[in-house]
Amino acid sequence: MTLIKSISGIRGTIGGNTGENLTPVDTVKFAAAYGSWLKKESKKEKNKVVVGRDARISGKMIQELTMNTLIGLGIDVIDIGLSTTPTVEVAVPLEKADGGIILTASHNPKQWNALKLLNNKGEFLDGEAGAKILQIAETEDFEFSQVDDLGEISVIEDYIDRHIEEVLKLKLVDPEKVEQANLKVIVDAVNSSGGIAIPALLKKMGVEVIELYCEPNGHFPHNPEPLKEHLADICELVKKEKADFGIVVDPDVDRLAFIDENGEMFGEEYTLVACADYVLSKTSGNTVSNLSSSRALRDVTQKHGGSYEASAVGEVNVVKLMKDNNAVIGGEGNGGIIYPKAHYGRDSLVGAALFLTYLAEIGKKVSQLRAEYPSYFMSKNKIELTPDLDVDGILKAVEKRHSSEEISTVDGVKIDFPENWVHLRKSNTEPIIRIYTEAKSQQEADELAQKMIKEIRDIIS
Ligand code: MG
Repeated sequence: MTLIKSISGIRGTIGGNTGENLTPVDTVKFAAAYGSWLKKESKKEKNKVVVGRDARISGKMIQELTMNTLIGLGIDVIDIGLSTTPTVEVAVPLEKADGGIILTASHNPKQWNALKLLNNKGEFLDGEAGAKILQIAETEDFEFSQVDDLGEISVIEDYIDRHIEEVLKLKLVDPEKVEQANLKVIVDAVNSSGGIAIPALLKKMGVEVIELYCEPNGHFPHNPEPLKEHLADICELVKKEKADFGIVVDPDVDRLAFIDENGEMFGEEYTLVACADYVLSKTSGNTVSNLSSSRALRDVTQKHGGSYEASAVGEVNVVKLMKDNNAVIGGEGNGGIIYPKAHYGRDSLVGAALFLTYLAEIGKKVSQLRAEYPSYFMSKNKIELTPDLDVDGILKAVEKRHSSEEISTVDGVKIDFPENWVHLRKSNTEPIIRIYTEAKSQQEADELAQKMIKEIRDIIS
């Protein structure tokens, strides 16, 4: 039973006691805080917010609590119902709305839900806005509307189709070329809204689709995080059906992973690498990902003559650095593709459409494409500490020990060695340090992680 309140929103488990879980009371409080912040921020007489959800079992309940709270504050709501995170992001500017809320706990299991908050551009709120909303929720500084001023809910049922239309309009997406390539693709959408969006997009591009777990009923058939250990079924089916490849998305469709024609992982980190390779081959420019993402993006960007920058972890940080550096594409190594020509948010529909067009253009097998990229391997570990330890002090000591190396302290400590890297980050919710490493072999990545763990133990003792 958990409730995590942070500047990036509120996330928790369904059921149990108020204040310790995402109960109806907590949902209303947080929705009221967002609505109150929005009214102050926009200074407009009348505000409008787009609200959508993924297919979680609790989704409808949490969405109705959220929408009714907003109209209680005099805010109009556009209810786009079952949709995806990127669909809501696209809908906000198209509807000229003042904000957006998506009800989804992303890749977390079915007992979780969350409110993801957007600004009037359909982009994630920054830390400053998040902190203000937390404060309003804390002090319950709400003023609800009089009966004549209540907001209204209007329903738009086909927003996923509108989103698909927007994706197909992109210059680098070519449905005719894809149709001519006669591709057969398996889709695993973990029984959430990607089960509607991804097959519909693929069919519009003339792809033969075989649906695996595409029933949007919220009963996740496996852990919904798109990692190798959860994807045995689709890997098997790709081989059995002799498909060209497989597509996996998380419940709110902002993370995208591919399976090659042999049933092997393309590698979540390589979704962005391949999409960037395609985009950069048509549009020269720069790229951005976060500090915990693969170095392969840097290599591919340099191959095309662009420059690569890494931001702090978190979509809002990636987006900010992308804007500062005029990046033509960016995202997160965990399968999040951000293509500014579409919008500044991770969008698996955009990623899948770019990848399909690229495959159709080069006419190679997915495994052949993967073999062209530099191979890196990651190791993801954590070290558990006692709550009395000064984690910042430990990180400072690590930084000092490696002061002759290339170091970034934008987000924890990242040390870029010539052949590999390590990224240490403290958790805001638990007494742990996350230790991510990347190297040219799995063994080297694991060994580097163990070396860092030993170093931290040395510093503590
Ligand atoms: Mg997600």
